Amino acid sequence: MTTDTVRAAIVTGAARGIGAATAKRLAAEGFAVAVLDLDEAAGKAVVADIEATGGRALAVGADVSDEDSVTTAVQRVATELGAPAVLVNNAGIIRDNMLFKMTVSDWDAVMNVHLRGAFLMSRAVQSFMTNTKWGRIINLSSTSALGNRGQANYSAAKAGLQGFTKTLAIELGKFGITVNAIAPGFIETEMTAATAARMGISFEEFRDAVVQQIPVGRAGKPDDIANAVAFLAGDGAGFITGQTLYVAGGPTV
Ligand code: NAD
Repeated sequence: MTTDTVRAAIVTGAARGIGAATAKRLAAEGFAVAVLDLDEAAGKAVVADIEATGGRALAVGADVSDEDSVTTAVQRVATELGAPAVLVNNAGIIRDNMLFKMTVSDWDAVMNVHLRGAFLMSRAVQSFMTNTKWGRIINLSSTSALGNRGQANYSAAKAGLQGFTKTLAIELGKFGITVNAIAPGFIETEMTAATAARMGISFEEFRDAVVQQIPVGRAGKPDDIANAVAFLAGDGAGFITGQTLYVAGGPTV
């Protein structure tokens, strides 16, 4: 791409884990990338990595669950990087507990980041995409959408994102905008490390037990998801929309 055809991409929750890998991958594909995260300082380190390899990026501190924060962040991206053409709704949290122990704040916190966050971000970027008649929205779901003990809140949010994805695909298709979800299985990040800690076992013990159930015989890495995002964000994926792509090292039931 030449300078004047560079497209801007926003990756939420991009200061670490899957989001950081995705931001770096999209920068390598030629996008100018907004590394949006609650943790702006950590986002700056991801931006420095991207710039060190010749890419263009901007660290943006924002809370995806807060309407004013989202509006300000998206305006800043449009001014400093260009009209957002790609949005990856990746920011996420877990507040796992069995139903009888799950608090209302555990429930609300997870809904607010995953569902309200994806809604606010998508609504904020859509006019930029409809104006240019090109856009890509990619939502991070999870295999937990199919049901996972201790994750009533997270499972409901991730299944909700699949419905959100299908509906946006129907509404935005005529504007050249595709909307898809990626549902990762077990990926090695701080999120899965936190799950091991909550279970009171070492990360290696947790990972090795999970890997026993994964047909390809290994845990996923953030780059496994970044690769799928890069494919769906590309021009070649323009006829794929409203889909959920499971990236889990095996089939899902
Ligand atoms: P992570 O915990 O390593 O990183 C999440 C990032 O999101 C952090 O940098 C955090 O600061 C940011 N964030 C949290 N709340 C935010 C908010 N309100 N506004 C802005 N940023 C916020 O997580 P990860 O493992 O990289 O997961 C990324 C996404 O992939 C999440 O949506 C997660 O649910 C999903 N996912 C992960 C796995 C896995 O195995 N790791 C599996 C399936 C789905």
